[in-house]
Amino acid sequence: MQTQKPTALVTGASRGIGRGIAEGLAEEGYAVAINYVRNRAAAEEVADGIRNKGGESLLVQGDVGDREDRTRIVEETVRDLGRIDLLVNNAGIAPKVRLDILETTEESFDYVLGTNLKAQYFITQDVAKRMIEWKKEGVVEAPRIVFITSISAYAGSRNRTEYCISKAGASMTAMSYAMRLAEEGIPVFEIRPGLTQTDMVEKVKEKYDRLISEGVVPQRRWGYPEDVAKVVRAIGRGDLDFSTGEVIEVAGGYFLKEL
Ligand code: NAP
Repeated sequence: MQTQKPTALVTGASRGIGRGIAEGLAEEGYAVAINYVRNRAAAEEVADGIRNKGGESLLVQGDVGDREDRTRIVEETVRDLGRIDLLVNNAGIAPKVRLDILETTEESFDYVLGTNLKAQYFITQDVAKRMIEWKKEGVVEAPRIVFITSISAYAGSRNRTEYCISKAGASMTAMSYAMRLAEEGIPVFEIRPGLTQTDMVEKVKEKYDRLISEGVVPQRRWGYPEDVAKVVRAIGRGDLDFSTGEVIEVAGGYFLKEL
């Protein structure tokens, strides 16, 4: 079923921000590969929703933290959609338990960095090499890559340091690929969501409700997956093509400092 449409691979697209991005890209005319790890029913709902609106979608199960799965995710996408015009590195996890830095376990450190940092680094390496060849062969015209990191790339949390470290590393990964791929004609962008209403923050929702009402987010509301999707849609349209390496915060002005 190879498609005439531009194609996007969105990791972790069965729920939350990834789902919003997948649905938004489908509205921009992309055929979308929806990666998920365990929630097939949720991923099917996203894929069916896109098809019901006349779009094209593909389900690709796989753990981005696993080397063999990563290769398979890319290969299945290419086999079924023909190529990847836009890679969105979105899949990410929080630590299973929030622990003080003095108690963080090596297991949690490896799990979180393996999924949030190493996976983005190596899936991008695989896709970028293919994009360079596809561009030479005229198979893709305007390849682009997006990294979803977080305000936690610079805002610390002493009881989930492995998450913050993974996002700081992912931020440098995005910058490194932006530098290397500029000469190849592949723009790379980093998007840093702030507090965004998804399953990931369900357990700490009350705390963040309070912080938001106290003004920690200057625009005084939660972010929604659609807020992030709007930026990815603009990237997918090519609106930011001369801004490679740009870091775009989608966080309601969280970074603004006031004395
Ligand atoms: P979420 O609601 O928990 O959804 C996570 C998604 O990632 C699901 O589709 C899940 O698939 C998938 N996933 C998890 N582990 C995976 C793996 N090993 N391989 C492949 N897919 C995997 O999370 P979210 O809040 O949308 O977060 C998305 C991204 O935004 C993450 O990188 C997160 O760090 C970042 N972010 C979130 C916030 C926030 O406040 N929510 C803020 C800043 C940054 P299944 O459905 O199969 O489990």
